[in-house]
Amino acid sequence: MTQQNLLIVGAGGVGGVAAHKAAQFSHEFGAITLASRTLAKVDAIAADAQQRWGKAGGRRLIGTRQVDAQDKDAATALIRNLRADIVLNVASPYCNEALMDASIATGAHYIDTAVAESEYVENAPPPWYANFEWPRRPAFEAAGRSAVLGIGFDPGTVNVFCAHAKKHLFDRIDTIDIIDVNGGDHGRYFATNFDADTNLREIREDVIYWEDGAFKALPHHSRKMTVTLPVVGEHVVYSMGHDELHSLPSSFPDAQRIEFWMGFGEHYLQVFSVLENLGLLSSIPVEVDGVEIAPVRMVKAVLPDPATLAQGYRGEVCIGCDLRGEKDGAPKRCFVYSTCDHTKCYAEVGSQAISYTTGVPAVTAAILLARGAWAPGTMVNVEELDPDPFMALMPEIGIGWDVIDLPLDGGWPEAARLADNG
Ligand code: NDP
Repeated sequence: MTQQNLLIVGAGGVGGVAAHKAAQFSHEFGAITLASRTLAKVDAIAADAQQRWGKAGGRRLIGTRQVDAQDKDAATALIRNLRADIVLNVASPYCNEALMDASIATGAHYIDTAVAESEYVENAPPPWYANFEWPRRPAFEAAGRSAVLGIGFDPGTVNVFCAHAKKHLFDRIDTIDIIDVNGGDHGRYFATNFDADTNLREIREDVIYWEDGAFKALPHHSRKMTVTLPVVGEHVVYSMGHDELHSLPSSFPDAQRIEFWMGFGEHYLQVFSVLENLGLLSSIPVEVDGVEIAPVRMVKAVLPDPATLAQGYRGEVCIGCDLRGEKDGAPKRCFVYSTCDHTKCYAEVGSQAISYTTGVPAVTAAILLARGAWAPGTMVNVEELDPDPFMALMPEIGIGWDVIDLPLDGGWPEAARLADNG
């Protein structure tokens, strides 16, 4: 089989991990190229990847290009010029539309890790995928090309966990609670672990969750619970709107409730609240000395670059799905999850665990497309695909997973803290 050329777009924290992993598993691809707005960033990542994964005197593992990926024509020309077969979009969600259209125009397969957003729209109507992605499904279908949406960790791997649970663990799934706790500490006063624009917006927007056949909305941080997760221990997590809630109900229409929860510490919430109350998290532009600027863009400009948090980041993350339902006539509850250590990620690829847990699944998906193990030939959300090849391959690429039983009364056993993904 001819090897597939891979184009990775975006040279932030996630783009860096994706480039390293593609270089490490370069035998799975033809030519690999990393492109972003800033050439110096892609060149630095490619040089580091060459040093870590290349052989002395061996071939160049990653080519580099500059591109504005919000410009459809420029993206189309780049894909054509490189003869890229797979486009892995790990740039900003503002680039999704142009990169999807460029993939359709050139007949490339498309992968991303976050749902598209409009720069100046807040609280877009659910399901978010219906706003920009799903209307393009017929075009991918007609071209017989695959588009795999949202394959980072959450969204992404957690959707695969749900598909795995449906296929192997349950006869019926009643509730899905996706839980994401970063038990790590980067030592900075305030920072976001990935693109600040996307991250602060998703935290600030209304909580959306699925219950009794409909999307429900709540003010942010208005619903919380305490969990005891493997490795990271006890944390308070808050219900939050998140991409996966906008696709999972289509595949799990009988689930009574599907909800996403994220851990936040007191200090983070205090700073966030001050920024929000001052109006500094708004995506709606204001005029400053004749210049229009969205306040959140200015905040992003002064916050630490997520990629720079990696050095010195300590602790681990735990992300998984608390699933309840029935198996063989008996009630069942279990937690399908992964953990990841910031320090180990830094040692391996120079990144922190949030970027790592996004880049590894994205490259796992790229390999599965390149091998033809995933070949939907149309646009899909991850849970629509067979979970087995992904669950088998992801540990090899860098992230293991595990399943533990949980008490049916809804509590969390102290023992969960001790479980490890080996
Ligand atoms: P960063 O902000 O660190 O990096 C984004 C990169 O994309 C930068 O290198 C940036 O440009 C580049 N970029 C932005 N706009 C353009 C453009 N118009 N043309 C070309 N390049 C552009 O973000 P992260 O790496 O942390 O996150 C990347 C993506 O991953 C985001 O969409 C984020 O939402 C998603 N994500 C998904 C997660 C999941 O689990 N599913 C978790 C974490 C993140 P430049 O070259 O100028 O630096």
